[in-house]
Amino acid sequence: MDQKRVAAVADELKIAAITPYTSIDYPGCFSAVAFIQGCPWRCRYCHNPHMQPREFPPQYLHSSWGELVTLLERRKGLLDAVVFSGGEPTLDPALRDAMQRVKEMGFKIGLHTSGCYPEHVAQVIDLVDWVGLDVKASLTDAEAYRWITGLNKSDPADHVSQTLELIQKTGVSYECRTTAHPAYLPDEKILSLAKELRSRGVETFALQVYRKPKELDLPFANVGHEYPEPETLEALQKLFPRFELRRE
Ligand code: SF4
Repeated sequence: MDQKRVAAVADELKIAAITPYTSIDYPGCFSAVAFIQGCPWRCRYCHNPHMQPREFPPQYLHSSWGELVTLLERRKGLLDAVVFSGGEPTLDPALRDAMQRVKEMGFKIGLHTSGCYPEHVAQVIDLVDWVGLDVKASLTDAEAYRWITGLNKSDPADHVSQTLELIQKTGVSYECRTTAHPAYLPDEKILSLAKELRSRGVETFALQVYRKPKELDLPFANVGHEYPEPETLEALQKLFPRFELRRE
């Protein structure tokens, strides 16, 4: 992985899109979300495949640092935080400078990450107030992780494991979240993943049931409220001090 990347300034941040106002992307905060262009993974259920290449696809509109700053100046007092999401925000060399400038404007910083770049997370974590860490499968199941993320060679689970460890060491507030579908995560696998995370000290866990977007031809169909089973949900509620089921 890229250990020697050169820092860049916030104006160079590649923003694919901005959500001006949301109450669900940073629990307990009203936030704006900046989606950063580029991701090294190719997850089978990705809702934002146009954000995977580092270059902006020409057929999509994109946003800019200037638009984010203008939005934040207008929304001072109405927004608590800015969430950097993606794509994978930590691949952008301008992320640290952007976070610093957003912080100077008085906003908290949220970070959504797949955990694919632990060393990049380490470069910004002191500026971050809350992390949403995607955990896509068991961190001891390299094969399952490769299958979901579309990688053949590297060990994505190991990178995520290192990122989790790093986040825990800093003491920053965080949640682990898993996008779930019975095709790859039947109830018994949900439970074993949850137990694994709990045994690693995770206290906040969100299960996000897969939802098929109309505009994308993704391989998994929508599932009904019978998944996961009520017993599984009950077990998850007992296991974690804070557990949330998300269906949208
Ligand atoms: S890590 Fe996220 S943005 Fe990247 S391919 Fe997977 S789902 Fe899409």
